[in-house]
Amino acid sequence: MNAAAADELVFLPLGGSNEIGMNFNLYGYGPPHARKWIVVDLGVTFGDQTTPGVEIILPDPAFIEEHAKDVLGVVLTHAHEDHIGAVPWLWPRLRAPLYATPFTAFLLREKLREADLLDEAVIREIPLSGTIRLGPFEVTLITLTHSIPEPNGLAIKTPLGTVLHTGDWKIDPDPLLGPVTDQAAIRRLGDEGVLAMVCDSTNVFVDGEAGSEAEVRKVLAALVGQLKGKVAAACFASNVARMDSIIRAAEANDRRVCLVGRSMLRMAAAARSVGLLTDTAPFITDAEAGYFPADKVLYLCTGSQGEPRAALARIADGAHPHVALGAGDACLFSSRVIPGNEVPIRNLQNKLADRGVRLFTERDHPGLHVSGHPCREELKRMYQWARPAIAVPTHGERRHLLEHVALAKDLQVSEAIAPRNGDLVRLAPGRAAIIDEVPAGRLYVDAGVVTPENGEALRERRHAAFNGMLTVALALDRKGRIVSGPQVRALGLPGDEGYELSDAIDDLTDEAKTALGKLSREDRDDDHAVEQALSRAVKRAAFRIWERRPVVETTVLRV
Ligand SMILES: [Zn+2]
Ligand SMILES: [Zn+2]
Repeated sequence: MNAAAADELVFLPLGGSNEIGMNFNLYGYGPPHARKWIVVDLGVTFGDQTTPGVEIILPDPAFIEEHAKDVLGVVLTHAHEDHIGAVPWLWPRLRAPLYATPFTAFLLREKLREADLLDEAVIREIPLSGTIRLGPFEVTLITLTHSIPEPNGLAIKTPLGTVLHTGDWKIDPDPLLGPVTDQAAIRRLGDEGVLAMVCDSTNVFVDGEAGSEAEVRKVLAALVGQLKGKVAAACFASNVARMDSIIRAAEANDRRVCLVGRSMLRMAAAARSVGLLTDTAPFITDAEAGYFPADKVLYLCTGSQGEPRAALARIADGAHPHVALGAGDACLFSSRVIPGNEVPIRNLQNKLADRGVRLFTERDHPGLHVSGHPCREELKRMYQWARPAIAVPTHGERRHLLEHVALAKDLQVSEAIAPRNGDLVRLAPGRAAIIDEVPAGRLYVDAGVVTPENGEALRERRHAAFNGMLTVALALDRKGRIVSGPQVRALGLPGDEGYELSDAIDDLTDEAKTALGKLSREDRDDDHAVEQALSRAVKRAAFRIWERRPVVETTVLRV
């Protein structure tokens, strides 16, 4: 493979840079007018209190959708939602073959089946450490350790140099399931020469090392051994090594394991498809678990982040059909608090505590969880192994990326660049530089419909959530005389002892009538003019009464 004079190698993040979530990275090769592209990861991020009703957020693929015919493949590094979750939503806009290792491919097939795309999408399974050729790109997987089976880094070789795209990783000397980090492959790559390393920044502010799954296993075994009542344990279902540790802790203490929550069952099936979790005693169902003595059962639950419909939330609400926890029982959180989830998690834990359940979390019980991302000592080692000429931090908020740039400079990496989503970074030839900016943004999945970020529906919903809503209905005859109304109704607006809601409604109705009375005969024939007059009058009065600007919806009927 030789580079033509006008060829360039570019990196373009469309998600995952300046945020932790919705990873969507592109590499382009060729002359600027005729680049060939590969996509690395296609993930989601999750909504919060600022996006009422929107749980799933996607990266906006508009830029690459225009070049869909030049996308040679979508390579998925591992099966976390922030790396594969957007595939069922956005694959139809790209239609390029999907490449993944067996565990990731298993979960991908499940997702595509649910989206009715399994017959259309092409999934090509790559073995661990396998190589694929996609036009000018030769992509070789490098086995890493993380918090899910089969995490892969990618060595992306092109005629203009090699990029090491790390994906998510840590250096776990004893990951329990799966091999250790393939240090030899990374060193070999370093010896051959790494042009750029595009690298995980999640824990760049944390000194030392993330710690090993093997340490968590010991802590869990000791803790479960001390407990007498029922035990519930929550962890990310995708962390199969952690699931395995919790299961072993249960077995060592003569407890049978019951999986509670859909994603626990799905992940167990995915794990078994690649030969993991195969030597455990059979799980019992939640209905069966009810017949076991309290000290003979352990519930492995979803919902460690306080997700409202997950198993743990239902148990905490006393709403689970088969699982009840109370005084004398314990709940272990073998997970971290994902930023943004502090409030729902605290509410969940308070509800459990109120039932008399004893709580054990990472904060008060060190060792109950370890991170899956590299801390500073691990980052240093990775830079020593790979020795890239250019550092490109990703998978972090702005502050993480800039701290990562500083760390790379301290480690004598000659160039470092921290792109924002949409920044087109030229990696070669010449010095690394941001040479263009392309459209990048987010799409919201709202009631199953993909909508633009801050579209009309969400704007109105947010507005109504904070300010309430008023409806005004009016029926006029052909001569513009009132047949019925105006009738005002209020939703989500307060009244109190001194000024009851019905007084406010009367007040608003009077204002609407007055406004109507001021309209000319012609204006009364014009529905739009009537609606506008009513709406203005009611809005003004609402502000006088509540100092708020509720959503106002007017309806004019002609009879
Ligand atoms: Zn990630
Ligand atoms: Zn991950």
